[in-house]
Amino acid sequence: MSTHAFQADVTRLLELVVHSLYSNKEIFLRELVSNAADALDKLRFRAVTDPTLMGDVPLGITLRPDAENKTLSIEDTGIGMNEEELVKLLGTVAHSGTRELYEKLSKAGDAKDLSLIGQFGVGFYSAFLVAERVDVISRAAGQDKTFKWTSDAKSEFTVEELPEPRATHGTTVTLHMKEEHVEFLENWRLRNLVERYSDYVPHAVSLVTKDKDGKEETNVINRATALWQRSKSEITDEQYDELYKHISHDFEKPYARSHFKIEGSLEFTGLLFLPRRAPNDLFDPNKSKGLRLFVKRVLIMEDCTELLPPHLRFVRGLVDSDDLPLNVSREILQDSSTLRAIKKQVTKRALDMIEDLSKEDPEAYLELSRTFGAVLKEGAAMGETDDKLVSLLRFESTKTGAGEGPAMISLDDYVARMPEGQKAIYFLHGPNRASLLGSPYLETLTKKGYEVLLLTDAVDEFAVAGIRKWKDKELTSAMQSGLDLGETDEEKKDREVRNDKLKGLVELAKKILEGRVQEVKVSDRLTDSPSCLVLGPGGTPLAIEAMLRAAGRPVPPSPRIFELNATHPLVEKLGLRADANASDEAIADYIEVLYDQAKLAEGGVPDDPGLYGRRVAKLLSLGA
Ligand code: ADP
Repeated sequence: MSTHAFQADVTRLLELVVHSLYSNKEIFLRELVSNAADALDKLRFRAVTDPTLMGDVPLGITLRPDAENKTLSIEDTGIGMNEEELVKLLGTVAHSGTRELYEKLSKAGDAKDLSLIGQFGVGFYSAFLVAERVDVISRAAGQDKTFKWTSDAKSEFTVEELPEPRATHGTTVTLHMKEEHVEFLENWRLRNLVERYSDYVPHAVSLVTKDKDGKEETNVINRATALWQRSKSEITDEQYDELYKHISHDFEKPYARSHFKIEGSLEFTGLLFLPRRAPNDLFDPNKSKGLRLFVKRVLIMEDCTELLPPHLRFVRGLVDSDDLPLNVSREILQDSSTLRAIKKQVTKRALDMIEDLSKEDPEAYLELSRTFGAVLKEGAAMGETDDKLVSLLRFESTKTGAGEGPAMISLDDYVARMPEGQKAIYFLHGPNRASLLGSPYLETLTKKGYEVLLLTDAVDEFAVAGIRKWKDKELTSAMQSGLDLGETDEEKKDREVRNDKLKGLVELAKKILEGRVQEVKVSDRLTDSPSCLVLGPGGTPLAIEAMLRAAGRPVPPSPRIFELNATHPLVEKLGLRADANASDEAIADYIEVLYDQAKLAEGGVPDDPGLYGRRVAKLLSLGA
């Protein structure tokens, strides 16, 4: 017999589980049955290439309560574990999320969130919610030796070889129940729990009962057909939700689901879910995410990323195909035309499901947009401008979130409430809503009553660049030069007067800022701010420049146009001074400060922040 120490994370987790006041202790059965089902799936998959592994042992799960000894055994004829696996799989946790789980649980106080346990890949340890000791007897498929793992949830566990091997490959988990939990040995309780939590399991779950004379009887207590193969009317919401929790490791119910069967030249069943919560690694490009792929009911792949485009990677679920070969590999999948056809259908169904939610429950859809909107926008950013996808995107704007109306809108909402005369869809990108709302770029647009989309996520900027046009309206940056705001004759006259007034100052500024700006102009967009920098044609916004730089890509030079507000008192005064004396040296300081301030308003920094500070102090001291 060998004794092993649990990994520190496991010990801490066990302490929590053992001392938990968590009331919903029954989840242990779901976790153990689900491990058994996974073990059966793994064996069935391995047996596709090596049928000898399975032999003629039928696949199944058996629950064996023993009231006399106060034990409950969960037996399976699955893949089993060898000695090394017992030590590794039931003594350590590879998942980095365990620490996070631990933190969550210890914060929760009464450990209310213990249902999280499966999600973090440590479901096995939930056995200690109800058992004081757990024995795991396992024989790996294709091997003769049987090993027994034992733990009483202290810091150590033991592993030993049993002289008498287990009759078949597979695993028996025996729970030595705590006195207060012997209720879980009752037949009705077990039946009830299996029906409630494990009816999705596509393997037979049997219950062994004893009659008065001690005669054993074994009955299958679940449906044992894959849930998705049944007709919708036979499946309850709760059963769908349990299947969802099983495949997604989520503990919350999904927002929505779509269960469909495609028949004809292509035959497959799909079951898709919209989760409420984002996984920790949603934005980690190295983490493969996907749907479960079954071929004729056999689980082939846990994370088949080829079934949905990357921007729908948050959708969970499964596809069960009748057309793909059982021994399909990732390489084959990549250029399988069958798979491409399946992907097209699944993508359509996923978008339909999301669209339905957006129509039927706008509140829930808003939440979903906050969680997964950035992922959907990646699609648009990658040039996927399918109308349905674009109309599912939500944005904040100058008119959202002010207590009236929804907190985010679609482009359709935007277009529907555009005032007459507005020609384009305007947007402005920046680090946060507050700084955008104070931005000089909004001044004229807001005055005209135009709504401006406020983009605070880097992906937004790429998404609008990808969409380009919606309902014949160009998506236009509020920072762009030469916005066509439908100038009236009167406004035009005003502008000409302003241009004339500032001619001298503009010429001077051009000289001072030579090489740093493309042009200096009198602004027709500012009302309150003295100056701003706008993008010349084809100019790159700072956020995109930063992303390019971060990705190690070349950043094209993108000089700005410096605009001065002729109606601002400071600019007016400078105009007069420039006309009176074109070589007035103090003007240069003012221009430099206005230029640096415009950079700040754009979200950038002055070229020389120290110099900027000294100049501002100098100018302030004049008036002090
Ligand atoms: P998870 O199942 O989420 O990975 P668990 O803590 O429930 O986390 O189980 C840890 C690992 O132990 C499993 O991934 C699996 O490899 C192994 N395991 C657990 N139960 C069984 C079983 N009945 N048969 C074979 N392997 C099992």
